[in-house]
Amino acid sequence: MRLDHDPETEWFRAEVRRFLEGHRPAVKTQHRSGVRAPDPEDIPALRKWTAQLFEAGYLGSDWPTEWGGTGRADPVRATVVAEEMARSRVPSPLGTGLLAAAALIHFGTQEQKQRYLPGIRSGREIWCQLFSEPGAGSDLASLTTRAQRDGGYFVVDGQKVWTTNGQHAQLGFLLARTDSGAPRHAGISAFVLDMTSPGVVVRPLREITGTSDFNEVFFDGVRIPVGNVIAEVNRGWEVATMSLVHERSGAGAGGITMLRAVGDAVALAASLRRRGRPALSDGALRQELGRLYAAARISMRLGQFHLSRALDGTADAADAPLAKIFYSETNLALVDLGLALQGTESLLTEDDPDAIAEGWWQDAFLYARAFTIAGGTNDVLRNLIAERALGLPKEPRGV
Ligand SMILES: Cc1cc2nc3c(=O)[nH]c(=O)nc-3n(C[C@H](O)[C@H](O)[C@H](O)COP(=O)(O)OP(=O)(O)OC[C@H]3O[C@@H](n4cnc5c(N)ncnc54)[C@H](O)[C@@H]3O)c2cc1C
Repeated sequence: MRLDHDPETEWFRAEVRRFLEGHRPAVKTQHRSGVRAPDPEDIPALRKWTAQLFEAGYLGSDWPTEWGGTGRADPVRATVVAEEMARSRVPSPLGTGLLAAAALIHFGTQEQKQRYLPGIRSGREIWCQLFSEPGAGSDLASLTTRAQRDGGYFVVDGQKVWTTNGQHAQLGFLLARTDSGAPRHAGISAFVLDMTSPGVVVRPLREITGTSDFNEVFFDGVRIPVGNVIAEVNRGWEVATMSLVHERSGAGAGGITMLRAVGDAVALAASLRRRGRPALSDGALRQELGRLYAAARISMRLGQFHLSRALDGTADAADAPLAKIFYSETNLALVDLGLALQGTESLLTEDDPDAIAEGWWQDAFLYARAFTIAGGTNDVLRNLIAERALGLPKEPRGV
């Protein structure tokens, strides 16, 4: 199945491209790569941007009609939107509202949908994802944050980490252990947490990029009403895994970001002189640029290949992990080259007015490692390919 050159898809792509150019919010975070927490002054513009994306039907189109969607998933269009957003380098919608919405639409009560879905569509309420803990990342089922029943409430104690946008969020999609005697996956529940509840402490972590994108979040006797449980108590694992599967499709989007960056690297190399000669006269550099261009195109196609097979029902367990590993590792090489090209100017920081491309390469270089960790580390994904696609013996656990 081809995802490009289909006239209807290409017409839609052109429409999305026009929309993004016409509505691009003027925010400082535009120059940063990856999923980043905004500067506080950018939040109003990003709330509006999130609402505009929903309003245009570029987000949430698969939601039920009652909640503003079409009631029908269209993975091809969702992919086109993700690809065009990457190509235009526009900011992502604010927070993890889409993830929470997937959980609420599938498992929430009518009352919960009524309460939370409109706030996600309008960008009024920012959500964060409270899953990972210091001792529970790749092995999420080992989480130890506890929620104990006390009358009409659950009382939560524990700690989360890596909470992107936690410092800006009004609401959290929380996983906590509600039955410590049950098998690991069976004793977890999912909650909606009001982040302003007494006992919630959010501590931003300053990262190597100089920005604070994620946080530590501490809970000390935090009371959550029983009505905030999503699905039944102890079904949290099912809620979490289902909502992660339904997160917005990004097939090929990373490849598109890299294609654009390779173009920028070529332009940069063309503008520089090294040892008295144009940088581009160096054959080894030209070869490396060619290799990275090919790899960026492959990365884009791997994402589309995965989507195409998923639509045909022929997807392999290796498809998605392979696309992610290939993207994140090619990206490391690309941003490395972008900095190397700059020589000593690579030492200028993002805020320096003399930094090339407003410091985009510096920021992308410092952030690039995150892509090999978030959404499943590359090591864990390699295990997955080995075990599920190749049928190799399982990795020894707990050694
Ligand atoms: C940019 C970014 C944003 C994030 N945002 C959020 C968020 O908003 N909310 C949230 O809940 N989480 C978030 N995460 C957390 C993310 O899900 C975890 O970082 C990820 O699951 C890995 O867990 P960990 O960091 O605890 O590493 P660990 O699981 O402790 O892994 C440490 C190292 O051991 C390796 N390793 C672990 N297990 C195995 C194994 N079985 N075989 C081989 N190697 C192994 C890993 O590859 C890694 O190199 C974010 C992460 C990043 C990078």
